[in-house]
Amino acid sequence: GYFEKIADIHSPKELAELARDFNHMTEQLEESFNQIKKAEDEKNTMISHLSHDIKTPITSIRSQIEAILDNMVSDIERPIYLESIQNQVMRLSQLTDELLDLTITQENKKHKLVIKKVWIDKTLVAALNSFQVQLKVEDRDINIDLDDKISFIYSDEEGINRILHNLIANALKYSLPGTPIKIEGTVYEDAIQISIQDFGMGISEEEQKHIFERLYRVEKSRNQKYGGTGLGLYISQEIAKILGGNITVKSLLEQGSTFTVRLPKKLH
Ligand code: ADP
Repeated sequence: GYFEKIADIHSPKELAELARDFNHMTEQLEESFNQIKKAEDEKNTMISHLSHDIKTPITSIRSQIEAILDNMVSDIERPIYLESIQNQVMRLSQLTDELLDLTITQENKKHKLVIKKVWIDKTLVAALNSFQVQLKVEDRDINIDLDDKISFIYSDEEGINRILHNLIANALKYSLPGTPIKIEGTVYEDAIQISIQDFGMGISEEEQKHIFERLYRVEKSRNQKYGGTGLGLYISQEIAKILGGNITVKSLLEQGSTFTVRLPKKLH
Protein backbone atom coordinates (compact mmCIF):
# COMPACT_ATOMS: atom_id res chain seq x y z
CA GLY A 1 0.00 0.00 0.00
CA TYR A 2 0.77 3.65 -0.02
CA PHE A 3 2.28 3.81 3.43
CA GLU A 4 4.99 1.30 2.63
CA LYS A 5 5.55 3.25 -0.56
CA ILE A 6 5.95 6.51 1.33
CA ALA A 7 8.41 4.91 3.74
CA ASP A 8 10.39 3.69 0.77
CA ILE A 9 10.85 7.04 -0.88
CA HIS A 10 14.46 7.92 -1.48
CA SER A 11 14.58 10.48 -4.26
CA PRO A 12 12.73 13.60 -5.43
CA LYS A 13 11.84 11.65 -8.58
CA GLU A 14 10.05 9.01 -6.52
CA LEU A 15 8.28 11.75 -4.61
CA ALA A 16 7.08 13.32 -7.85
CA GLU A 17 5.78 9.95 -9.00
CA LEU A 18 3.89 9.52 -5.78
CA ALA A 19 2.40 13.00 -6.11
CA ARG A 20 1.25 12.13 -9.61
CA ASP A 21 -0.37 8.96 -8.28
CA PHE A 22 -2.15 10.93 -5.62
CA ASN A 23 -3.40 13.48 -8.15
CA HIS A 24 -4.65 10.72 -10.37
CA MET A 25 -6.46 9.09 -7.47
CA THR A 26 -8.10 12.40 -6.51
CA GLU A 27 -9.28 12.91 -10.09
CA GLN A 28 -10.76 9.42 -10.20
CA LEU A 29 -12.51 9.97 -6.89
CA GLU A 30 -13.91 13.27 -8.09
CA GLU A 31 -15.17 11.65 -11.25
CA SER A 32 -16.95 8.84 -9.45
CA PHE A 33 -18.37 11.32 -6.99
CA ASN A 34 -19.81 13.37 -9.88
CA GLN A 35 -21.25 10.23 -11.46
CA ILE A 36 -22.94 9.22 -8.23
CA LYS A 37 -24.31 12.73 -7.78
CA LYS A 38 -25.70 12.79 -11.33
CA ALA A 39 -27.43 9.43 -10.89
CA GLU A 40 -28.80 10.62 -7.57
CA ASP A 41 -30.17 13.84 -9.12
CA GLU A 42 -31.86 11.90 -11.93
CA LYS A 43 -33.42 9.55 -9.46
CA ASN A 44 -34.68 12.41 -7.31
CA THR A 45 -36.34 14.10 -10.29
CA MET A 46 -38.08 10.89 -11.28
CA ILE A 47 -39.26 10.21 -7.75
CA SER A 48 -40.58 13.74 -7.35
CA HIS A 49 -42.54 13.42 -10.63
CA LEU A 50 -44.00 10.10 -9.56
CA SER A 51 -44.87 11.40 -6.11
CA HIS A 52 -46.78 14.18 -7.79
CA ASP A 53 -48.66 11.61 -9.90
CA ILE A 54 -49.46 9.58 -6.83
CA LYS A 55 -50.92 12.60 -5.05
CA THR A 56 -53.60 13.16 -7.69
CA PRO A 57 -55.57 9.94 -7.13
CA ILE A 58 -55.11 10.21 -3.37
CA THR A 59 -56.65 13.69 -3.32
CA SER A 60 -59.52 12.49 -5.46
CA ILE A 61 -60.16 9.40 -3.31
CA ARG A 62 -60.09 11.48 -0.16
CA SER A 63 -62.62 14.03 -1.40
CA GLN A 64 -64.97 11.34 -2.69
CA ILE A 65 -64.88 9.42 0.59
CA GLU A 66 -65.47 12.66 2.49
CA ALA A 67 -68.49 13.41 0.33
CA ILE A 68 -69.93 9.97 1.08
CA LEU A 69 -69.24 10.31 4.82
CA ASP A 70 -70.82 13.78 4.88
CA ASN A 71 -73.99 12.32 3.28
CA MET A 72 -73.51 14.50 0.22
CA VAL A 73 -73.94 11.51 -2.10
CA SER A 74 -77.34 10.10 -2.95
CA ASP A 75 -78.04 6.36 -3.11
CA ILE A 76 -78.12 6.55 -6.90
CA GLU A 77 -74.77 8.32 -7.07
CA ARG A 78 -73.03 6.07 -4.56
CA PRO A 79 -72.07 3.22 -6.95
CA ILE A 80 -70.57 5.77 -9.34
CA TYR A 81 -68.47 7.20 -6.53
CA LEU A 82 -67.36 3.76 -5.42
CA GLU A 83 -66.42 2.75 -8.95
CA SER A 84 -64.41 5.93 -9.33
CA ILE A 85 -62.66 5.24 -6.04
CA GLN A 86 -61.89 1.73 -7.20
CA ASN A 87 -60.39 3.07 -10.45
CA GLN A 88 -58.21 5.50 -8.54
CA VAL A 89 -57.01 2.74 -6.24
CA MET A 90 -56.07 0.64 -9.27
CA ARG A 91 -54.17 3.59 -10.67
CA LEU A 92 -52.34 3.97 -7.39
CA SER A 93 -51.35 0.35 -7.45
CA GLN A 94 -50.04 0.76 -11.02
CA LEU A 95 -48.03 3.81 -10.05
CA THR A 96 -46.54 1.87 -7.17
CA ASP A 97 -45.54 -0.92 -9.56
CA GLU A 98 -43.92 1.62 -11.86
CA LEU A 99 -42.07 3.19 -8.96
CA LEU A 100 -40.66 -0.23 -8.19
CA ASP A 101 -39.77 -0.75 -11.84
CA LEU A 102 -38.02 2.58 -11.90
CA THR A 103 -35.91 1.69 -8.89
CA ILE A 104 -34.95 -1.53 -10.58
CA THR A 105 -34.00 0.32 -13.79
CA GLN A 106 -31.82 2.62 -11.71
CA GLU A 107 -30.25 -0.38 -10.04
CA ASN A 108 -29.60 -1.93 -13.44
CA LYS A 109 -27.76 1.24 -14.38
CA LYS A 110 -25.58 0.64 -11.38
CA HIS A 111 -24.35 -2.55 -13.03
CA LYS A 112 -26.63 -5.04 -11.35
CA LEU A 113 -27.11 -7.03 -14.52
CA VAL A 114 -26.79 -10.78 -14.33
CA ILE A 115 -25.34 -11.84 -17.65
CA LYS A 116 -25.79 -15.48 -18.50
CA LYS A 117 -27.26 -17.73 -21.17
CA VAL A 118 -30.87 -16.68 -21.74
CA TRP A 119 -32.96 -19.12 -23.74
CA ILE A 120 -35.38 -17.10 -25.86
CA ASP A 121 -38.20 -19.65 -26.07
CA LYS A 122 -38.12 -20.27 -22.32
CA THR A 123 -38.12 -16.55 -21.50
CA LEU A 124 -41.03 -15.95 -23.87
CA VAL A 125 -43.08 -18.72 -22.28
CA ALA A 126 -42.27 -17.30 -18.83
CA ALA A 127 -43.42 -13.82 -19.89
CA LEU A 128 -46.64 -15.23 -21.39
CA ASN A 129 -47.34 -17.31 -18.31
CA SER A 130 -48.36 -14.34 -16.21
CA PHE A 131 -51.11 -13.56 -18.74
CA GLN A 132 -52.55 -17.08 -18.81
CA VAL A 133 -55.84 -16.19 -17.11
CA GLN A 134 -56.36 -13.02 -19.13
CA LEU A 135 -55.64 -14.85 -22.40
CA LYS A 136 -58.26 -17.44 -21.55
CA VAL A 137 -60.89 -14.94 -20.37
CA GLU A 138 -60.35 -12.79 -23.46
CA ASP A 139 -60.32 -15.77 -25.80
CA ARG A 140 -57.00 -14.81 -27.37
CA ASP A 141 -54.92 -16.72 -29.87
CA ILE A 142 -51.19 -16.32 -29.45
CA ASN A 143 -49.36 -17.24 -32.64
CA ILE A 144 -45.70 -17.84 -31.98
CA ASP A 145 -43.31 -18.16 -34.89
CA LEU A 146 -39.71 -18.56 -33.82
CA ASP A 147 -36.79 -18.95 -36.19
CA ASP A 148 -35.47 -22.55 -35.95
CA LYS A 149 -32.02 -21.15 -35.28
CA ILE A 150 -33.15 -19.05 -32.32
CA SER A 151 -31.63 -20.46 -29.14
CA PHE A 152 -29.97 -18.37 -26.46
CA ILE A 153 -28.20 -15.05 -26.06
CA TYR A 154 -25.87 -13.80 -23.34
CA SER A 155 -27.91 -11.17 -21.57
CA ASP A 156 -29.93 -10.32 -18.47
CA GLU A 157 -32.98 -12.58 -18.20
CA GLU A 158 -34.90 -10.40 -15.74
CA GLY A 159 -34.49 -7.36 -18.02
CA ILE A 160 -35.71 -9.24 -21.10
CA ASN A 161 -38.63 -10.63 -19.13
CA ARG A 162 -39.65 -7.13 -18.09
CA ILE A 163 -39.53 -5.85 -21.67
CA LEU A 164 -41.57 -8.75 -23.03
CA HIS A 165 -44.04 -8.45 -20.17
CA ASN A 166 -44.61 -4.74 -20.86
CA LEU A 167 -44.98 -5.22 -24.62
CA ILE A 168 -47.42 -8.13 -24.25
CA ALA A 169 -49.43 -6.20 -21.64
CA ASN A 170 -49.72 -3.24 -24.03
CA ALA A 171 -50.66 -5.46 -26.99
CA LEU A 172 -53.51 -6.87 -24.90
CA LYS A 173 -54.52 -3.51 -23.42
CA TYR A 174 -54.76 -1.68 -26.73
CA SER A 175 -56.56 -4.36 -28.78
CA LEU A 176 -59.97 -5.97 -28.41
CA PRO A 177 -60.61 -9.32 -26.72
CA GLY A 178 -60.82 -12.09 -29.31
CA THR A 179 -58.18 -10.56 -31.59
CA PRO A 180 -54.91 -12.51 -31.86
CA ILE A 181 -51.39 -11.55 -30.86
CA LYS A 182 -48.51 -12.58 -33.13
CA ILE A 183 -45.04 -13.15 -31.76
CA GLU A 184 -42.10 -13.61 -34.10
CA GLY A 185 -38.47 -14.40 -33.35
CA THR A 186 -35.71 -13.79 -35.89
CA VAL A 187 -31.97 -14.44 -35.73
CA TYR A 188 -29.36 -12.16 -37.28
CA GLU A 189 -25.59 -12.47 -37.38
CA ASP A 190 -24.97 -10.93 -33.99
CA ALA A 191 -28.44 -10.03 -32.79
CA ILE A 192 -31.88 -11.45 -32.32
CA GLN A 193 -35.25 -9.80 -32.74
CA ILE A 194 -38.56 -10.49 -31.08
CA SER A 195 -41.63 -8.73 -32.41
CA ILE A 196 -45.03 -8.56 -30.80
CA GLN A 197 -47.90 -7.67 -33.07
CA ASP A 198 -51.46 -6.78 -32.15
CA PHE A 199 -54.47 -5.97 -34.28
CA GLY A 200 -55.82 -3.17 -32.15
CA MET A 201 -56.25 0.59 -32.22
CA GLY A 202 -52.79 1.39 -33.56
CA ILE A 203 -50.77 4.57 -33.03
CA SER A 204 -50.63 7.57 -35.38
CA GLU A 205 -47.29 8.42 -36.97
CA GLU A 206 -47.08 11.67 -34.99
CA GLU A 207 -47.66 9.89 -31.70
CA GLN A 208 -45.20 7.09 -32.49
CA LYS A 209 -42.48 9.73 -32.07
CA HIS A 210 -43.42 10.26 -28.43
CA ILE A 211 -44.59 6.97 -26.97
CA PHE A 212 -41.14 6.07 -25.61
CA GLU A 213 -40.96 9.31 -23.67
CA ARG A 214 -41.35 9.20 -19.94
CA LEU A 215 -44.99 9.57 -18.80
CA TYR A 216 -46.23 10.11 -22.40
CA ARG A 217 -49.66 8.66 -23.11
CA VAL A 218 -51.60 8.93 -26.34
CA GLU A 219 -54.55 11.29 -25.79
CA LYS A 220 -57.08 8.66 -26.82
CA SER A 221 -55.87 6.13 -24.26
CA ARG A 222 -55.92 8.81 -21.60
CA ASN A 223 -59.53 9.68 -22.33
CA GLN A 224 -60.75 6.11 -22.60
CA LYS A 225 -59.31 5.27 -19.19
CA TYR A 226 -57.25 2.28 -20.27
CA GLY A 227 -55.33 2.67 -17.07
CA GLY A 228 -51.64 3.20 -17.40
CA THR A 229 -48.87 5.54 -16.48
CA GLY A 230 -46.94 6.21 -19.65
CA LEU A 231 -43.89 4.64 -18.07
CA GLY A 232 -44.02 1.11 -19.48
CA LEU A 233 -42.48 1.82 -22.86
CA TYR A 234 -40.00 4.31 -21.42
CA ILE A 235 -38.76 1.76 -18.90
CA SER A 236 -38.69 -1.02 -21.52
CA GLN A 237 -36.65 1.12 -23.89
CA GLU A 238 -34.27 2.05 -21.05
CA ILE A 239 -33.73 -1.62 -20.23
CA ALA A 240 -33.28 -2.53 -23.92
CA LYS A 241 -30.57 0.15 -24.19
CA ILE A 242 -28.83 -1.11 -21.06
CA LEU A 243 -28.84 -4.54 -22.71
CA GLY A 244 -27.19 -3.07 -25.83
CA GLY A 245 -30.35 -3.16 -27.94
CA ASN A 246 -33.45 -1.12 -28.69
CA ILE A 247 -37.20 -1.24 -29.25
CA THR A 248 -38.86 0.08 -32.40
CA VAL A 249 -42.49 0.43 -33.43
CA LYS A 250 -44.46 0.04 -36.64
CA SER A 251 -48.12 0.91 -36.48
CA LEU A 252 -51.16 1.94 -38.47
CA LEU A 253 -54.23 3.52 -36.90
CA GLU A 254 -57.13 1.06 -36.57
CA GLN A 255 -54.91 -1.74 -37.94
CA GLY A 256 -52.59 -2.52 -35.08
CA SER A 257 -49.04 -2.19 -33.86
CA THR A 258 -45.83 -4.19 -33.97
CA PHE A 259 -43.21 -3.57 -31.32
CA THR A 260 -39.81 -5.09 -32.08
CA VAL A 261 -37.08 -5.59 -29.53
CA ARG A 262 -33.59 -6.15 -30.89
CA LEU A 263 -30.88 -7.52 -28.61
CA PRO A 264 -27.25 -8.39 -29.25
CA LYS A 265 -26.29 -12.07 -28.97
CA LYS A 266 -23.59 -11.02 -26.56
CA LEU A 267 -23.60 -8.05 -24.23
CA HIS A 268 -20.08 -6.63 -24.19
P1 ADP B 1 -49.22 3.14 -20.63
O1 ADP B 1 -49.00 2.89 -19.21
O2 ADP B 1 -50.07 4.36 -20.91
O3 ADP B 1 -49.68 1.95 -21.40
P2 ADP B 1 -46.75 2.96 -22.12
O4 ADP B 1 -45.48 3.68 -21.90
O5 ADP B 1 -46.72 1.48 -22.01
O6 ADP B 1 -47.78 3.60 -21.12
O7 ADP B 1 -47.30 3.37 -23.53
C1 ADP B 1 -47.36 4.74 -23.89
C2 ADP B 1 -48.55 4.99 -24.80
O8 ADP B 1 -48.33 4.34 -26.05
C3 ADP B 1 -49.85 4.39 -24.26
O9 ADP B 1 -50.53 5.31 -23.46
C4 ADP B 1 -50.61 4.07 -25.51
O10 ADP B 1 -51.34 5.20 -25.92
C5 ADP B 1 -49.53 3.82 -26.56
N1 ADP B 1 -49.35 2.38 -26.83
C6 ADP B 1 -48.44 1.55 -26.28
N2 ADP B 1 -48.54 0.30 -26.76
C7 ADP B 1 -49.55 0.33 -27.66
C8 ADP B 1 -50.17 -0.65 -28.52
N3 ADP B 1 -49.73 -1.93 -28.56
N4 ADP B 1 -51.19 -0.24 -29.31
C9 ADP B 1 -51.61 1.05 -29.29
N5 ADP B 1 -51.09 2.00 -28.50
C10 ADP B 1 -50.08 1.67 -27.70
